[in-house]
Amino acid sequence: MNRQDFPILSREVYGRPLIYLDNAATTQKPRCVVEAISEEYYNVNANVHRGVHYLSQQATELHEGARETVRRFINAPDTAEIIFTRGTTESLNLVATSYGEAFLHEGDEVLISEMEHHSNIVPWQLLRERKGIVIKVIPMTDDGTLDLQAYERLFTSRTRLVCCCHVSNVLGTVNPVKEMAAIAHAHGAHFLVDAAQSVPHQAVDVQNLGCDFLVFSGHKVYGPTGIGVLWGRKELLDAMPPYQGGGEMIARVTWEKTTYERLPFKFEAGTPDYVGSHALAVALDYVSAIGMDAIQRHEADLTAYALQKMREIEGMRIYGHPAMPQPQAATVQNHAATPPSQAAMIGGPHPTTAPSLPTGPISFNVGTIHPLDLGTLLDRLGIAIRTGHHCAQPLMARCGVEGMARISFGLYNTREDIDAFISALQRVIKMF
Ligand code: PLP
Repeated sequence: MNRQDFPILSREVYGRPLIYLDNAATTQKPRCVVEAISEEYYNVNANVHRGVHYLSQQATELHEGARETVRRFINAPDTAEIIFTRGTTESLNLVATSYGEAFLHEGDEVLISEMEHHSNIVPWQLLRERKGIVIKVIPMTDDGTLDLQAYERLFTSRTRLVCCCHVSNVLGTVNPVKEMAAIAHAHGAHFLVDAAQSVPHQAVDVQNLGCDFLVFSGHKVYGPTGIGVLWGRKELLDAMPPYQGGGEMIARVTWEKTTYERLPFKFEAGTPDYVGSHALAVALDYVSAIGMDAIQRHEADLTAYALQKMREIEGMRIYGHPAMPQPQAATVQNHAATPPSQAAMIGGPHPTTAPSLPTGPISFNVGTIHPLDLGTLLDRLGIAIRTGHHCAQPLMARCGVEGMARISFGLYNTREDIDAFISALQRVIKMF
């Protein structure tokens, strides 16, 4: 799909055609995004919001136009609710710090799922150190989905906030965040969605999800690095103190007292990445023109195809099986030595006609081969995959492994890419 728009995909590595299957880490950039960046630096560059001159006004229009593009993309009610940040990580740190300051007190509880990326764990631990909040973990069942009954049982009168990824960057599990947000609200708590792994692969509508905050990174959705988004409900953002101080975020500064700008500027201290915001908007327009539903269908086909091929490989263990029914007991056949609760998560049949169209990453191990060795040898054959703990060490511990190999798709991947990966993988396995 639109592969010709991505110049990097025609390069070679080690004399072989590049097969890029590390899209959950970052996506490649279409020509229009790269050109938007150089075009702005060549022709429009000026600092935004402060100049009366032509270039500054033009740059400001691009920057604020980008905010509107983001608003439309996630169907937020108001552009004032779109905060530009450096990415998902900064968005989460902003909420932890600022929401934490405004709304959380010693003993208040924050629920976090067991399958979170470190960036949705550590900021809350830092807050725990500062304010004495309590972190409770929403457990996962053995099939790699969240245990919603256990989730409901975690709520108490002190629960203030739930933080959960929409799609796991390891298991590919699509969490029922809409239902989970409704449950949180019924208990008087707010709900934050880490959409880093969903925004690039499916239509995301904050009003439909009914969440209170949603965060994502530009670089995972074909945009540039260094730009990301925090969306939050206006009344919450209004009640939260600034995250950083500096230019742009103030209304008036005197030695005695400083007052702050209105939203969204209150949270955007300093010169913003106005080139990045514009390039992100170009990326969002690009995927919108293709259609998020078409992208989701295409990637769901790739996911189903890859799972089917991977399952045929002896010794293959696939972790999790997004939005799938519980696998049968027979699925643990490769795992004689694995404790039951870990074994059950592994290698279940993955129906190819999934109602919820899973498109998330596929993490795996093969036999006793170390994932790092797998990744290194595949790289020599031109296949770029991810290996390691995927910034989710608590989840690795839950699965009883130190690390996993992972493939993940973008809109430009093809079934031929998967065939190349499978045959390279078979070659690597033969070496052991
Ligand atoms: N959350 C999830 C689910 C992710 O997959 C990632 C990155 O892989 C992040 C957060 C952190 O994103 P970033 O490094 O762009 O801030």
